Amino acid sequence: MTSSTSTFLRTDQCGELGTEDVGRTVSVCGWVAKRREHGEHLAFIDLRDHTGVVQCVVDGAADLRSEYVVRVTGVVRPRPEGTINPNLATGAVEVGECTVEILSVAEAPPFPLDDRAADVDETVRLRYRYLDLRREDMQRNLRTRAKVNSAIRAAMDAQRFVEIETPMLIASTPEGARDFVVPARTKPGNFYALPQSPQLFKQLCMVGGVDRYYQIARCFRDEDLRADRQFEFSQLDAEMSFASQDDVLGAITVAVSAAVEAVTGSGIDDLPRITWRDAMDRFGSDKPDVRFDMELTELTDVFASTEFNAFKAPSIKGIRHPGAAADTTRRRLDDLTDDAKRWGAKGLVWMRVEQGEDGSVTLNSPVAKFLSDAEQAGLVERLGAQVGDVVYIVADEWAKVCHVLGLLRLALGRPPVNEGGFNFLWVVDFPLFESVDPVSGRPVSAHHPFTMPHEEDWELLDGSPDELLSVRSQAYDLVLNGWELGSGSVRIHRSDIQSRIFELLGISQAEAQVKFGFLLDAFKFGAPPHAGFAFGIDRLVALLMGEENIREVIAFPKTQSGGDPLTGAPTPIDPVQLDELGLRLLPPST
Ligand code: ASP
Repeated sequence: MTSSTSTFLRTDQCGELGTEDVGRTVSVCGWVAKRREHGEHLAFIDLRDHTGVVQCVVDGAADLRSEYVVRVTGVVRPRPEGTINPNLATGAVEVGECTVEILSVAEAPPFPLDDRAADVDETVRLRYRYLDLRREDMQRNLRTRAKVNSAIRAAMDAQRFVEIETPMLIASTPEGARDFVVPARTKPGNFYALPQSPQLFKQLCMVGGVDRYYQIARCFRDEDLRADRQFEFSQLDAEMSFASQDDVLGAITVAVSAAVEAVTGSGIDDLPRITWRDAMDRFGSDKPDVRFDMELTELTDVFASTEFNAFKAPSIKGIRHPGAAADTTRRRLDDLTDDAKRWGAKGLVWMRVEQGEDGSVTLNSPVAKFLSDAEQAGLVERLGAQVGDVVYIVADEWAKVCHVLGLLRLALGRPPVNEGGFNFLWVVDFPLFESVDPVSGRPVSAHHPFTMPHEEDWELLDGSPDELLSVRSQAYDLVLNGWELGSGSVRIHRSDIQSRIFELLGISQAEAQVKFGFLLDAFKFGAPPHAGFAFGIDRLVALLMGEENIREVIAFPKTQSGGDPLTGAPTPIDPVQLDELGLRLLPPST
């Protein structure tokens, strides 16, 4: 069958030829992936394009080298008995009676473009990304990403969201990261910021009567890079008018489901929800990985009247590592204790659960002797501890206990990225403030300052630091397998509440006017109640493809240190350009 991607030079794609094509004269184009001599004159050439490879039997292939770009015209025929390759989609056929036209010669590639590339230094792969992209894995990832984007667009369009592009050269956005800035030639001494998100523009769209906005938006944040973070990333960004949290979660679920379906063939229904408080209590994280159990267990009451000083603390929790005693060496326990201290704990109590001589369950631990029999029994019962387990306990402030045990839980139990299926979760009821500055007494926003507090908690805004920290916001996150995919909130559309929040955050009216004056002005002209969300497409695609690192699903990413080995960016600029921009460089700091 003639492929629909036939062109002037080719009739078919390499990876799509099969027994149904036997007898056809075809032209295929691509790169020489492999060549094997076959007698004096004949050679087998594996010809590769993005669909796969096909074997071509070529007479007089002496001048064909790896990665040469060629056009092969020949007749599709069944492979001889015994030479069929069941591991190859085209393994039942080959192209014979070939004439070969060299379209481009190629130098030998600096690394093999097959499975072995996985072991090549990533900087080398990025330096020659155009070669790396020829590999099957990269082709698969990029094409899947394109499918995800188009499924998301279709899902948003069907829900009557309108795709609107917002500017890249803007005044700063309030997402809390460092901005990338662009000096303005026409106004020396002034700078544009690249958007950390389209946040303010999408809210302006709501004032502008757009009703439902979306965009697959590029965002820029100057933060330290990690496996799940790049300076620039793409997110599905959305906003809806006259909408509640449930409306937003519903609309986003439809888009996420379409994305999952584009990759796996089946979508997802309603996503489970958990409150932030529960997530912290049970998993020690605001982005719980629920692919595995090992939940944090409440033990504070078990030790309510303990004599053991280390357990005289406001909060005590434990986790149980089932069946781990045999494999957990003393050295490992010491390392985990060091980790826990690095994460902020005063210490980590561990206990091996063993069988006593009389058959009873006993706890083997340097601290067991400080605990009463009732405490030991209570602990075993509460944790459901079995002989052969190791249990870990942390005592401290609630937040610290959750944080440390949450990290410990991941260190002990987290499955590899491509195992355990896709466990999406909405985390709702985030606190409005993440902390209160001990010096100024001012709270620090957990999301951005336009996030609406829960109506029932409004009166706590006038309360003590503890009360402020207990104010819940109408903010929500989407989590997948322990990665934060995105966040959103119901926005404040009332100027009295907004002023109160600015005041609490210590943002003066003058400062608010300078930073977001245009938004506050817009709100004076009739702002509909509105709410929105954004989730990262790089992260979603990486997880759906079972990749640890978002760089694997980005065509031209930066390295962990923020450079681009391919183009050399960032690079110095010409002194003339600096002059035009009214900039002068300081000598590098030593
Ligand atoms: N602007 C937020 C972000 O990019 C998302 C939102 O609140 O809609 O994380």
